[in-house]
Amino acid sequence: MTIIIKNEEEIAAMRQTGRIVAMILKTIIANIRPGMKTKELDTIAARELEKHGVRSSFKGYRGFPANLCVSVNDEIVHGIPGKRVLREGDIVSLDFGAIYDGFQGDVAATVGVGRIGKKAEALIETTRGALAAGIAAARAGARLGSISHAIQDYAEAKGYSVVREYTGHGIGRDMHEEPQIPNFGPADSGPVLKKGMTLALEPMVNAGDWRTRVGDDQWTVLTADGSLSAHFEHTIAITDGEPEVLTREVYA
Ligand code: MG
Repeated sequence: MTIIIKNEEEIAAMRQTGRIVAMILKTIIANIRPGMKTKELDTIAARELEKHGVRSSFKGYRGFPANLCVSVNDEIVHGIPGKRVLREGDIVSLDFGAIYDGFQGDVAATVGVGRIGKKAEALIETTRGALAAGIAAARAGARLGSISHAIQDYAEAKGYSVVREYTGHGIGRDMHEEPQIPNFGPADSGPVLKKGMTLALEPMVNAGDWRTRVGDDQWTVLTADGSLSAHFEHTIAITDGEPEVLTREVYA
């Protein structure tokens, strides 16, 4: 396994990309309304990509047909924006990545459409908290497993399950670099984290069981039991101290 360590200049470039992808996701989220088709979110993404002079990381990736992934309710990740109409009370997971100046940024968030139920709200807050717990564990000298363990611990303590078959990943010039970052596992496992590693942490948390299935379109991943799912992601850099969140802008 080769984990690519980035120098200051490369981190600076990733900071730029991270800021742009986060801003674009924020704009997309601000436009979500009940009654709109998920395809409209892709149109907004395309417009924003052009405005910022960046290219989508997802469009064309293994044939993926859209600029971002839009996954609704029991859809976990990799949903293709299309004719589906968003309704009040739905939750929608948006995953967006772009490349700028040779470097990738990757970010995701789950938001409610209009007013949502308490259970959906709690799931979203837990998933956001699981990501924060993972980020807090991302310290030079710790093992990668401490991130995975922190995420799993946080979500399971609140009665939820973490998706096993899909993971976070290293990120840099490529969207998916080593290492894979599972959202579960023992803390004392995996490679030791070092300053200059850049990682995309992305817990996917289910209200029910962790098992998944792939939909008829061969892309959309859903919960096997039909329960709700949420997804949050940040691109981060390991430093000497606290990790730097390169996609922070989205929650600003
Ligand atoms: Mg990712």
